[in-house]
Amino acid sequence: MVLPATKEIYSVTEQEQQKVAMVVMAHADDAEFGCAGTVARWVKEGWEVYYVLCTDNSSGGPDEATDVSEEARKHVVETRMQEQRNACAVLGVKDVFFLGHHDGELQPTIELRKELVRLYRTYKPTRIICQSPVRSWEPIMSMGASHPDHRAAGEAALSAAYPASQNPWDFPDLFAQEGLKPHTITEIFVMGSPANNYISDISSTIELKWDALRAHTSQLGEHFDEIRTWIDSYHATMGKKIGSAYAEEFHRTENR
Ligand SMILES: [Zn+2]
Repeated sequence: MVLPATKEIYSVTEQEQQKVAMVVMAHADDAEFGCAGTVARWVKEGWEVYYVLCTDNSSGGPDEATDVSEEARKHVVETRMQEQRNACAVLGVKDVFFLGHHDGELQPTIELRKELVRLYRTYKPTRIICQSPVRSWEPIMSMGASHPDHRAAGEAALSAAYPASQNPWDFPDLFAQEGLKPHTITEIFVMGSPANNYISDISSTIELKWDALRAHTSQLGEHFDEIRTWIDSYHATMGKKIGSAYAEEFHRTENR
């Protein structure tokens, strides 16, 4: 099999003009907690945003549950898929893809990497948002941000972005059999990182973030107001760093 020279396959300049972003998360509601304000702002600025959820969310039922049968898990899966779709509708997310890996057991496998490369090469995002593959010991949100599924999703998302998506030698069957040309992602935003370097002003979209979070009824339901108070103060603290009312924080890196 002979592939065209990389420079003939794609043009970075051409890609940079595409306002397409992809948000890769382990679970339903991860993006709403970590980056929904930024997503809503990008959508308002004309970006086409896609979500990818790596797991089936089947371990996200009530903490006090006594029935964890397959039937009960199926109900949780369907409920959380619908809630995620509802949240995406609030934010203006174009589409959401569910990869369906078992919740709580996600691993950064070559298979998952390939699934993500397929999506990157198909939708050609210029930006991605993903979770941190590295455990954070920051006091705020440290354990939640470092859930093993989050770290696995982050590792897979980053490994798929570089070099696999842009390297014609990686997963050559995606090009040979599916016609998916290598694609370079130029901006990467990592949530829950131990070393944040980018603050995103979400003052104009904080209400949309609340509405999107509220869509996850089975998770937040009766605790929504309590969670909102806590998150409100968290984002207000970040906002103070740049003189705005609310902000989300990331580790941003460029890949050129
Ligand atoms: Zn999660």
